[in-house]
Amino acid sequence: MPVKNNKQNSMAQRLLIMVILPMLLLAGATAIIGYNLTLSSLSKNLKNELKNTAAMTAHTIDTLVPGDYSLVGEEGLSLMKGDTDITRRYDLVDEANALTGLEISVIYHDTRILTTICDKERVRIVGTGIAAQVEDKLAGSEDGVFFTKTLINYENYFSYYYPLYNSDDTLVGAIEICSPYKPLSRNAWSTILIIIAMIVFVTILLTIHIYHYNRSLEQAIEKLMTFTKQAAKGNDSAELDQSLLTRDDELGTIGASVLEMHRSLRDMMDKDPLTKLFNRRSANRKLDLIRSHYTEGRRSYSVAIGDIDFFKKVNDTYGHDAGDIVLVTVADILQKHLKPLGFVARWGGEEFLMVFDKMEIKEAEAELWKILEELRATEIEYENMIIRVTMSFGVVCAPELTQDEIIKLADENLYYAKESGRNRVTSYIPVPEE
Ligand code: GH3
Ligand code: MG
Ligand code: MG
Repeated sequence: MPVKNNKQNSMAQRLLIMVILPMLLLAGATAIIGYNLTLSSLSKNLKNELKNTAAMTAHTIDTLVPGDYSLVGEEGLSLMKGDTDITRRYDLVDEANALTGLEISVIYHDTRILTTICDKERVRIVGTGIAAQVEDKLAGSEDGVFFTKTLINYENYFSYYYPLYNSDDTLVGAIEICSPYKPLSRNAWSTILIIIAMIVFVTILLTIHIYHYNRSLEQAIEKLMTFTKQAAKGNDSAELDQSLLTRDDELGTIGASVLEMHRSLRDMMDKDPLTKLFNRRSANRKLDLIRSHYTEGRRSYSVAIGDIDFFKKVNDTYGHDAGDIVLVTVADILQKHLKPLGFVARWGGEEFLMVFDKMEIKEAEAELWKILEELRATEIEYENMIIRVTMSFGVVCAPELTQDEIIKLADENLYYAKESGRNRVTSYIPVPEE
């Protein structure tokens, strides 16, 4: 059904907006902020390592080859340290490189003279220049400058430039110490990826959980709606799904209240407010049901109508309120006897209809005599007075007849009971005259 699809779409959209989108934003923000924080923390440690290596290399070179740096020769191709030509003295950088794994270069002004960095053909990139901004920053610094991303020979490095001064305090170059950017960046990413994977995992769990909770809410509301719609149509046999009542949330409470409300309404419609017995309307329906069971091949049933004898006198003598108390007492006695056997209803004023399910007339008659015995022995107290009443019953067992015909016969028998002196049970069926 198209309505259903719309509903599912809207739920998916709500889920997306409520959970997945914020969680994805969180994952994205965590990735960017986390990556930068991790990288900056890692690079801070690295900066110290690079700086120490640079200072150590500068000191080692000074110890091994004392003197000032200067360029000599045609086109300035030889770098001198004191009197020693160090242009090809790669040992001065290779040793520290082997020890630390870091790339080391000796820069004179803006040119690499000695270096451990090689190009693709494994040729040292001597003679290459450094960025102009490095020179500028170096000029203003005392113990060097650190760069988080320097492009050297098509590759990014963390690099530290440690200034080299001659004895007259002129800045002549720098020791460049580089560590490749990629491994550290990968390191930072792998830390962040674990966090992101956890966020994604939690998002999936949360989405599944919320989806199922949403579905269960929808199903519970649907059950509630089905029930209220049926109840609103006046369907007495409307049933509320039990699973709704076992819920321990607000919907469970609403379900229980709605059910209670439905029961109260049904009672109001089906029961007599004074005696709490079924009223005539529901008695007709219940008798109809028992008749339908008979037609389906079940056992027979008997029907009786009982009427309180001289009830008008009770009202006249003791008052209407006393009459009500008598009605309630009689109803209770009838109910006590009939409940396990069938049902009793208030048929009108002081008349009661009794139906004995699966019972032949003799058994029903015997039961009615028992009831009458109890009634005769009952003393009803009202304002320090004792009221006693008797009843007359007309009973019939003619399950094959229509409801109206059965009631008519029971009524006729009641009439005979009254005529023949009241306070008795009559099952007499007059034979019609030919
Ligand atoms: P009989 O033995 O022939 O049945 O005589 P009866 O006096 O019982 O019969 P009748 O039909 O003359 O009187 C029935 C009375 O029952 C009349 C009416 O006022 C009274 N009655 C009907 N419903 C109620 C009720 O709800 N409460 C009270 N207190 N009286 C009621
Ligand atoms: Mg009457
Ligand atoms: Mg009466």
